[in-house]
Amino acid sequence: MATRIVIIGAGIIGLATARAVARRLPDAHITILEKSEKIAAHQSGHNSGVLHSGIYYTPGSMRAKTCHAGLQMMESYCDENRIPWKRCGKVIVATREDELPRLEMLHKRGLENGVPCSKITPSEIKEHEPHVRGIAGLHVESTGIVDYVAVCQSLASETSRHGKILLNQQVKKIESHGNHATVTTGDDDFEADLVIACCGLQADRMARLSGAATSVRILPFRGEYWKLRPAAAAMVRGLIYPVPDPAMPFLGVHFTRTIHDEVEAGPSAVPALSREGYRWRDISFMDTAEAAFSLRSWKLAARWWKNGASEIHRSLSKKHALRSMRHLLPNLGLDDIERSPAGVRAQAVDAAGNLVDDFLIKMDGSVVHVLNAPSPAATASLAIADLIADQALCQSETR
Ligand SMILES: Cc1cc2nc3c(=O)[nH]c(=O)nc-3n(C[C@H](O)[C@H](O)[C@H](O)COP(=O)(O)OP(=O)(O)OC[C@H]3O[C@@H](n4cnc5c(N)ncnc54)[C@H](O)[C@@H]3O)c2cc1C
Repeated sequence: MATRIVIIGAGIIGLATARAVARRLPDAHITILEKSEKIAAHQSGHNSGVLHSGIYYTPGSMRAKTCHAGLQMMESYCDENRIPWKRCGKVIVATREDELPRLEMLHKRGLENGVPCSKITPSEIKEHEPHVRGIAGLHVESTGIVDYVAVCQSLASETSRHGKILLNQQVKKIESHGNHATVTTGDDDFEADLVIACCGLQADRMARLSGAATSVRILPFRGEYWKLRPAAAAMVRGLIYPVPDPAMPFLGVHFTRTIHDEVEAGPSAVPALSREGYRWRDISFMDTAEAAFSLRSWKLAARWWKNGASEIHRSLSKKHALRSMRHLLPNLGLDDIERSPAGVRAQAVDAAGNLVDDFLIKMDGSVVHVLNAPSPAATASLAIADLIADQALCQSETR
């Protein structure tokens, strides 16, 4: 039975997994190793704060199932721990005729995924969001908002009751010895019966460090946000989304009234020159060279260069960014928006240059790797953590 557990990464997946393991093995010694100086330093601290309903994902996929279950778990967790959240609902708005079949498909998919959603007319769109112009819409009532940093802080304080979180501890090596492993940071060696690597933007590198056989690589996509100045923010009551482009893995620039009562527009999806760089001027030679010399990046670029070019244009030009926001909010002006901090998404890509659509978790002896946990993994985190803990502990029992 695994009793010494090392979790790498204090993002929401690592922290939720620590909680799930502690609930199953109350006597386990859990250590979380985090390379940054704080928890939730990357994706978990730089996201839209949306509690997703699960409408978008392929029925039967891990994303669909864990989002559906995870949303309810997260709502209860927030209630139990007095973390503010709100079920504000959202509207998905079609602004062009050619989006109508996709909106219809989304409605069917939502119902298949057990997500309560209903079609709405242009006048009903106006009842929800008076400043939005659309020709048809979907209203999704179960979508909500939360502050995921607050969730991470609460999970971290639970972890400190069962184990410890060591910050500024970058894992440099994992040596697997069959039924146990040695995890090495710059400072120390940690012996573990079970290692669970939840490394987000560094997930593929961690897998390679431990010698796990995987062909996926992480490509970073920066998601840039704009903030609506207070006068313009009054134009947005809740969450307003466009109809997503099925060719793209991201949901398109949307408006979010956050739990802190600010309104953001974004995120975009700009290929990033650094996995953990939040501005254009943050360039990592290693990250850029790795992406530039990888055949899969070129395969991806060949398929999506048009979308990529448009995202870059939108990133560099405020006017272009505004133009795309005005599809949904036609009265928005150039002076109504200002730049807001960005996030960077970790997106796994397979050897053929395809974006990995579903969550991807790989068990490799005494080491588990979370290789792809893009949105809605924050919403789904408690359900993903249950899944990891059940599978990993069951496997370690049979070793
Ligand atoms: C712009 C953006 C918007 C999003 N919006 C939403 C949303 O509204 N709703 C939603 O549900 N999801 C959203 N997501 C997705 C969600 O934020 C992520 O799926 C989730 O945070 C992933 O958590 P994680 O723990 O896997 O990764 P992370 O939060 O990135 O954590 C990984 C951790 O591992 C650490 N680490 C890496 N390598 C090492 C090492 N060698 N040694 C020690 N530590 C290491 C890192 O420092 C980091 O702290 C969004 C993401 C982005 C970027």
